[in-house]
Amino acid sequence: MSCDRILVTAKQLESVVSGLAEEIAAAYRNLDNIVALVMLDGARYFAKDLLANLDFPVEVVFIKASSYGSRTSSCGRVRIGASADLTNQIRGKHVLVIDDIYDTGLTLATLLNRLRDYQPQSIRTCVLLEKAIEHTQKIPIDFRGLIIEDAFVIGYGLDFDGRYRDLPFIASFSPKHACSAKNAHGA
Ligand code: 5GP
Repeated sequence: MSCDRILVTAKQLESVVSGLAEEIAAAYRNLDNIVALVMLDGARYFAKDLLANLDFPVEVVFIKASSYGSRTSSCGRVRIGASADLTNQIRGKHVLVIDDIYDTGLTLATLLNRLRDYQPQSIRTCVLLEKAIEHTQKIPIDFRGLIIEDAFVIGYGLDFDGRYRDLPFIASFSPKHACSAKNAHGA
């Protein structure tokens, strides 16, 4: 790869995800009415692999949240696109919020505040990555994959301007290098 540095390999991701699934299974196995709330678009790849590792039924609800657009630092505003059905999907249920990365914490904080209005039985949070920074919003993370350095990262669902989501690893990315997708794939 000519312009990015791989921080987490595909093999490491596989073992992190299966470790998280074991933790989640231990916490939820004997519960009914579990809903996984998957934050789009970034957590889609992670959630698919994570949920495939669970051996009990989980309802899956996708929720759209965005704070980045085409930039590499938070714009400080978060938009949550909730579906009209969310009340029925969440009330009285055990909600597991699945997100790709805990950066400033603004997105998760906004979502968690909003979710409480829907009266779930419990809310827990799972993130694949947490940046080693002083978070603007402190969020209780129940299931955490890896803590990474403070870099803008791409791959395994995380994008830059809609690109690089399909990389099977996590790499740091600097837009000034603006590499081609070919380079980012290590070609
Ligand atoms: P936060 O609200 O915690 O600052 O970040 C929320 C969202 O911003 C994350 O769920 C993710 O979609 C996006 N984000 C934060 N850091 C990064 C990053 O390093 N790379 C990419 N691609 N997205 C990020």
